[in-house]
Amino acid sequence: MKYIVTAIRLLFLAIFLFLIANGNMMLWLALFVLSLVVTFFFGRVYCGYACPMNTVMNSTEWLSKKLKIQTNHTPKWLKSGIFAWIFLIVSVVAMLLSKKLLHTNLPILLIWLVVSMLITLRYRPAVFHNLICPFGVLQRVAGKFSVLKKSVDKTSCVGCKLCEKVCPTEAIAVQNEDRKAVINRKLCIQCTNCQQACPKGAIHYMK
Ligand code: SF4
Ligand code: SF4
Repeated sequence: MKYIVTAIRLLFLAIFLFLIANGNMMLWLALFVLSLVVTFFFGRVYCGYACPMNTVMNSTEWLSKKLKIQTNHTPKWLKSGIFAWIFLIVSVVAMLLSKKLLHTNLPILLIWLVVSMLITLRYRPAVFHNLICPFGVLQRVAGKFSVLKKSVDKTSCVGCKLCEKVCPTEAIAVQNEDRKAVINRKLCIQCTNCQQACPKGAIHYMK
């Protein structure tokens, strides 16, 4: 499963770079808008499979761990989550102003791609995914209502927390009360890491 997921991500990254190189950034933004509809049915598959930021962040996180520069700390000022909304508004306004005043498309996706890598060099991927990403903020709204989602079969779960350790968005957590894992649908980016790690096969994609 891991290799299939990686191949899909690399394919989307190649399509993204091709579109950017050919000045077709708006096409990718159109794909993103379409993905919000898909999210209502299938969960945040755009984030987990197509998003170029998520793909480069996976490598950046690996590098950060190798260099031992990753911290568990989350900047206090980010914790409320309001900044993701602010970054969304600033990005849209900057794009509109760039188009109107400079008659050019601001390379907003490339800018956020670089920001996501810089942030992930130092912080856990969840910091960018959950507290900064202006695209993720819309995906979270749609993801909250998704029809299909990852769920944990409580009878199979033994509370080992292996799934927690590999979740890039801290969407899955073992509850103190019953020692069973629960997935936050809004935060889950459908990456399948938890399914691959679970020794009991307790995590399923279902209604
Ligand atoms: S590890 Fe599991 S819970 Fe976390 S984002 Fe990936 S699929 Fe969702
Ligand atoms: S890895 Fe599987 S068994 Fe372990 S806590 Fe997570 S869902 Fe439960």
